[in-house]
Amino acid sequence: MAKILVVDDAEFLRLRISKILTSNGHEVIEANNGVNAVNTYKSTRPDAVLMDITMPEMDGLAALKAIRAADPKARVVMLTALGQESVVLEAIKSGARDFIVKPFQPDRVLNAINRVLS
Ligand SMILES: [Mg+2]
Repeated sequence: MAKILVVDDAEFLRLRISKILTSNGHEVIEANNGVNAVNTYKSTRPDAVLMDITMPEMDGLAALKAIRAADPKARVVMLTALGQESVVLEAIKSGARDFIVKPFQPDRVLNAINRVLS
């Protein structure tokens, strides 16, 4: 069992991902924008992060960079939409371990999490 921080401004998506993760034995913490993601990461130190890119306050790329600055070992997987290839590339360069393109199947989320945790 791992502690996973799920970051997305869309509540239905956080709920969907949380359901997938908790039904597979993981603990989930949620944040709805980049600022809250960085603060929550620092206070809870999750084992991995699933991070949306387009969000208010602070986007996922900036939050990824802030989290990796606070913890260079942070394991972050980006949640992306089609057409965000350039942002995905910069995220990978900034230390993101993987990316999941929306819409996604539950297995894709579990595989990504299992891989970054191993
Ligand atoms: Mg979004």
